[in-house]
Amino acid sequence: MRKMIVAGNWKMNTDFSEAKELAQNLKNSLSNYTGDKGIIIAPPFTNLSEVGNIIKCTPIQLSSQNCASEESGAYTGEISVNMIKSVGAEAVIIGHSERREYFKESNELLLKKLKLTLNAGMQPIFCFGEVLEERESEQHEATVDKQLSETVFKLTPEEFSKVILAYEPVWAIGTGKVATPEQAQEMHAFIRKRISENFDETVAENTSILYGGSCKPNNAKELFSQKDVDGGLIGGASLKAEDFVAIINA
Ligand code: PEP
Repeated sequence: MRKMIVAGNWKMNTDFSEAKELAQNLKNSLSNYTGDKGIIIAPPFTNLSEVGNIIKCTPIQLSSQNCASEESGAYTGEISVNMIKSVGAEAVIIGHSERREYFKESNELLLKKLKLTLNAGMQPIFCFGEVLEERESEQHEATVDKQLSETVFKLTPEEFSKVILAYEPVWAIGTGKVATPEQAQEMHAFIRKRISENFDETVAENTSILYGGSCKPNNAKELFSQKDVDGGLIGGASLKAEDFVAIINA
């Protein structure tokens, strides 16, 4: 059975004290949480350790927003999966559109990061999605298919079963322009069909596919009630404990 998951990507926001405050607020708000959704937060690297201490023994799991594409060594400024794991994180966001766009991360590089994350026993949250021109020219399915075929579809079924997918149409990220529930469902169903063709139906049925892109307390319920939408990856709204918790409870 696949799991409903709500994951918060804090991006390059929160200094040390702000991160502690946000984590503490989340911990307090979720102290009586009895829901069945998985909850993940991804603070900046510098705050992982401290946030990890605060959310210990809560239902909230810790993720990083990225990892290095090499295991260790002379890569100044990079952070390896083992370093991330050593401070208590269990997941790594890989392939966010901001990293693909601003840091020119290719599918080839993302596959390396996926393998390193899986080899370290951690869970990748793998992001992908089309840009506006691709949606407008009806190339969105072809784009997503290529992104998946060159990355997660190259994993073994066992490796793939540990991956959380996050479909994030780039035109909806941080823009306030959310995909309609129908657009989200249509794409998620397409993704699940492609997983089934590439692996098998059981693998497809067990894969959590999150939606990301301007998901807020006022639209989360409708998005999450779509048959193939298994929760969300939340950017802006994850920075306010009240909004993030409202999305979790949607
Ligand atoms: C994201 O960056 O993954 C995201 C979905 O951002 P937002 O919710 O702000 O659109």
